[in-house]
Amino acid sequence: MAENKKPQAPKKPKFNPYWISGALLIALIAFQVFGSSDTNDNKKITPIEFFQTLKSGEIDHFDIIKNTGYVKVYLTDDAAKLKKHAKSVSTGFSLASTKMPNYIFQYGDLSNFEDKYTQIIDDNNLTTEYDNNREENILADILISVLPFLLLIGIWLFIMKRMSGGAGGGAGGQIFNIGKSKAKLFDENTKVKTTFKDVAGLEGAKEEVQEIVDFLKNPEKYTSLGGKIPKGALLVGPPGTGKTLLAKAVAGEAKVPFFSLSGSDFVEMFVGVGASRVRDLFKQAKEKSPAIIFIDEIDAIGRARGKNAMSGSNDERENTLNQLLTEMDGFGTNTNVIVLAATNRADVLDKALMRAGRFDRQIHVDLPNLTERRAIFDVHLRPLKKVEGLDLDFLAKQTPGFSGADIANLCNEAALIAARNNKKAVDKQDFLDAVDRVIGGLEKRSHLFSVEEKKTIAYHEAGHATVSWFLEHADPLVKVTIVPRGRSLGAAWYLPQEAYITRTSKFLDEICVTMGGRAAEKIIFNEISTGALSDLENVTKKAKAMVMIYGLNEKVGNITYYDPAGESGFVKPYSESTAELIDNEIKNIVETEYTRALELLTSKRDVLEKLANRLMEREVIFKDDLEEILGKRPFDTIEDKPSQKLVSENKEEKKEEE
Ligand code: ADP
Repeated sequence: MAENKKPQAPKKPKFNPYWISGALLIALIAFQVFGSSDTNDNKKITPIEFFQTLKSGEIDHFDIIKNTGYVKVYLTDDAAKLKKHAKSVSTGFSLASTKMPNYIFQYGDLSNFEDKYTQIIDDNNLTTEYDNNREENILADILISVLPFLLLIGIWLFIMKRMSGGAGGGAGGQIFNIGKSKAKLFDENTKVKTTFKDVAGLEGAKEEVQEIVDFLKNPEKYTSLGGKIPKGALLVGPPGTGKTLLAKAVAGEAKVPFFSLSGSDFVEMFVGVGASRVRDLFKQAKEKSPAIIFIDEIDAIGRARGKNAMSGSNDERENTLNQLLTEMDGFGTNTNVIVLAATNRADVLDKALMRAGRFDRQIHVDLPNLTERRAIFDVHLRPLKKVEGLDLDFLAKQTPGFSGADIANLCNEAALIAARNNKKAVDKQDFLDAVDRVIGGLEKRSHLFSVEEKKTIAYHEAGHATVSWFLEHADPLVKVTIVPRGRSLGAAWYLPQEAYITRTSKFLDEICVTMGGRAAEKIIFNEISTGALSDLENVTKKAKAMVMIYGLNEKVGNITYYDPAGESGFVKPYSESTAELIDNEIKNIVETEYTRALELLTSKRDVLEKLANRLMEREVIFKDDLEEILGKRPFDTIEDKPSQKLVSENKEEKKEEE
């Protein structure tokens, strides 16, 4: 804002790198004009010497240049090779078309000179030719000799500009500006349309950032009571939950200059650039204070320092981080620059960055709950043409675990699906199809399976479904399909409870359900196919988490090897014997659950077969079909309550080599 600008000292003329090129150019021209080999001392002779050389027949021809008073002398080829003329041979640069004279001299009085040389030529019967009526264009001469250099310099400048990605101009536009911050500035001249209204849900987070905006607008309100204005706030949360959106809304609402950039913008292949960009960014922000700096994906530079002793290649990033730490500490409380940053990896950030006095506040932006999802739907349905009375609550219920970005994507998908079906408005079924599409990927009706393959897939999915039906802690089933989608060949869909803690029994039941597919194949075909790769990945990950992260294994005990920041580097934080124990326990968990699934399915083989047959018949079966075959599930009590989550699990993948 203009009124906030502090009076500045009169600006010193800044060093401009183009001066170097300018100076070089002038030097070159001067050299060409004044030091040009035409008038080189080496080539000067006296008229007497000229007459002697002429007499000896060593001159091929000479030109009398009337407007300069010079004579240019060209030796015969043989004479030019003679030792006495060695110095006369031109070594200077010239365009190929113009031959350089061997000698040059001033003739003085013209008629006198003419008499003399005609007499010598006549007396000696020489064939030497001459041109006694020449005029030379000095300007053209200069131009011709300077032109190649101009061209060279031009090309050089062009390449420099291209190298620094230059056509865009602005800071960083030229190689010389590489240390300048790449931040995008939003101020009163740039219209940011995003406002807090566009951010649905996130009430707590919104309040916090609104307060930050207020700090900048009315600092006195807070400082008059002795409080200090916070220097930074860190937005932490999973991807797509609206952190960047929130920051954009701050930019739209704050009406103060807003510098936005991403953590990776600091890093360049040149050493020292990151730190200098940080310095420049803060300098610019301070000049325009009060201002907000927003650094997205700050983990790109803010990772904990020096933990990974082996790599040694992190120096540049560390320098950048150090500079950021210094800058954030360096500006006084009254400079009114607030740093907002966003990350989804707060756990890997350097502790120094997180301490009070730098990012004083951490604002958690979590995945939206039911009411928040409803609000987000509300925002993203606004621009859509939808049928009357579309039930937002229903949509919110169907999409647990979705982030704001997922919901935005879902709404868009639904509109596209409706358009593909030539509908006038988007309806509920389009949204349901879009949910399937977003979670599972594109339906691939064109996939052709052999009967054998289809049977295998059907039994595999029926295996998952049957096991989950009879285990208390497994998530309630919604539908089972053997329609290929994305990379999966079939899927069982569940509505898991949204819970904050998971008990051991739930972990085990889930592993058992996931192994159910493989177990079914084993029971029916007595051999297992490659289709269960993602099942295996899934159970291994779960079992590993139980043993190594959550301390849920008795033998390994109450210990966690959770190390998100990679602090232990390449050294394992446990002994060889513990490593063996961990391996054994992970294997043990998975194998025990596999056996449990086998036993369960063996005892329920008749239902398993019925389910598989119906699947092959209809391709998609819903909970009602399952109830018909399996009877009512004894544990389903929470099914229609809010806060449930629909996820696709147990994807089967065909091995790529097939
Ligand atoms: P991130 O947290 O990864 O920075 P973004 O802020 O980039 O996520 O969100 C991506 C998109 O998701 C936004 O552009 C917006 O369309 C949508 N979105 C996310 N959260 C919300 C929300 N709370 N309200 C409305 N839209 C949201």
